[in-house]
Amino acid sequence: MNRLRNKLVEIDRKGYKAYKEITGTYKGDDYLLHIDYVQPDPFANPSRIRVELPKDVTKYKEEWYNLKHRRIAFEDFLTRQMVIKLKGFKQDRSGTGKSGLIFIDRPGQEVLERTSVKVGSKGVEVRLSIGLPASGRTILGSNAEELLCRVIPSLVKDALLKFDERLLMKHLVLSDNQNAIRNFLRDNNYVCFIGNDSILPRESGISDLPLKNGRAVPFHSPSSLEIEIPLPDGSSIKGMGIPEGVTLIVGGGYHGKSTLLNAIERGVYNHIPGDGREYVITNDTAFKIRAEDGRRIEKVNISPFINNLPFEKDTTRFSTEDASGSTSQAANIIEALEAGCKVLLIDEDTSATNFMIRDARMQQLVSKDKEPITPFIDRVRQLYEEHKVSTILVIGGSGDYFDVADNVIMMDEYIPFDVTLKAKEISNSIKNMRKSQIDDNFNYITPRYIKKQGLNPLADKKEKVDTKGLHTIIYGTGIINLSFVEQLVDESQTRSIAYMIRYIYNKLLKDSAPLHDVIDMLYRDIDEKGLDIISPYFGKHPGDLALPRKLELSAAINRMRSLQVK
Ligand code: ADP
Ligand code: MG
Repeated sequence: MNRLRNKLVEIDRKGYKAYKEITGTYKGDDYLLHIDYVQPDPFANPSRIRVELPKDVTKYKEEWYNLKHRRIAFEDFLTRQMVIKLKGFKQDRSGTGKSGLIFIDRPGQEVLERTSVKVGSKGVEVRLSIGLPASGRTILGSNAEELLCRVIPSLVKDALLKFDERLLMKHLVLSDNQNAIRNFLRDNNYVCFIGNDSILPRESGISDLPLKNGRAVPFHSPSSLEIEIPLPDGSSIKGMGIPEGVTLIVGGGYHGKSTLLNAIERGVYNHIPGDGREYVITNDTAFKIRAEDGRRIEKVNISPFINNLPFEKDTTRFSTEDASGSTSQAANIIEALEAGCKVLLIDEDTSATNFMIRDARMQQLVSKDKEPITPFIDRVRQLYEEHKVSTILVIGGSGDYFDVADNVIMMDEYIPFDVTLKAKEISNSIKNMRKSQIDDNFNYITPRYIKKQGLNPLADKKEKVDTKGLHTIIYGTGIINLSFVEQLVDESQTRSIAYMIRYIYNKLLKDSAPLHDVIDMLYRDIDEKGLDIISPYFGKHPGDLALPRKLELSAAINRMRSLQVK
């Protein structure tokens, strides 16, 4: 630290550029400080540092991080401790621009694998962004010394060493339970669990926090669908189990159907204590399918849904720069299946009507050979019976689906009822004149070989890989629009996806390879070497990254305007 102090004295009052000289590693009494990146001016992206505390200082118990799900929960907990400490601390922002700012990646309601805090057998490392203090462009050396040598080490130690162990245990035990429920669902052929007393509605359309106490009707399972799942600590939990197969969520408008489906969508992630959805656990390959007109499609076999297009456009390798509602929804399904999805989540609110239904009267008026679309209702059972792909579908507008459903759940004033028997009675007593339109199997497996060239971030010579908010990736000269990839939840996931595509490009030795193979290769690398591996700054502060699912990565690649499939 004295070395750093001396340097800061030397550059005090000099121009901001002189800060570059403090890049490096410094040893404190019981910690290491790495200054990895120094910003070029006080307004630029902040500087990046890491603080390392060795094992003999942290004295963390091995049981806190020896299991993967616990390590992720523990790192998440420590990140949140750091966020709380930074919030409670009055930063000295008297300087220019970002002077004095201290920042750590800030998690939302989900517990995701992140790069913000790394716990391992050697100790812990925390990754921060800071603004090096200046007045105008003049270095404020003594402010920098205060920040780097005193404030940051003490904040980090407060956050990472002096936390309430009972709170940590609550976090870890919850993750044990969530993990146990996930395993139970998988082993017992359920696709989703919603614990009794869960709070599903959110505060508002733009907030992911629970609707305030008292205003939300807690979830309670109908008795016929209630299951009890044993938990690791010997206790158990009750709630609604949605079995594999075809499940409808019906009910009047505004009775809570979409809210239930949204919670199910988010259940692919674990949530923090107090979220209200911490016991909503969904098969983690579940993917929200919706219409997305305007998206690009690159050689996708949408023929199970769309055939005989005007002008005989080939739908086994369908491409377009500007998809319609139904073709985009078809492509979204096929691409999700290709990426390993076993549960389709669909809401009528965001679906193309002609993709979902085609009733008896319309079948009479427009003959089958004049209609390119095979509606989803004709394929949904096949998907399950031939491919073990389940569907959870919100539908208030068509009883035709009663014929193909295994379970029907009705939301009535935010309370779920099992109306399966009644729906089956109706489908038996009121004969449906509509005819199934299919006479073939559901064939979708066509490994798509993506070309390396299409992922080139250097298309414009100067590499540009950047993100803007949650939904936009700037890649080379192109933009990837992820606005309709609804289970992407964290900007740090978006940043990861941008780096992942770049990583795949750099790793790909052949000119082309099957899309899902390259994605599997990438995730194996991450499993072995950690999420840092995808960063161009590997070995230093890697940036604020969080792990997306393979499905979201694949969705992003499929939406690249430059993607080329062989
Ligand atoms: P639907 O899809 O059936 O039309 P929504 O799920 O959109 O209905 O819900 C309508 C409104 O009711 C939303 O504002 C939502 O926040 C609210 N809501 C949903 N579930 C609950 C609940 N359990 N308790 C209180 N409010 C709820
Ligand atoms: Mg709705």
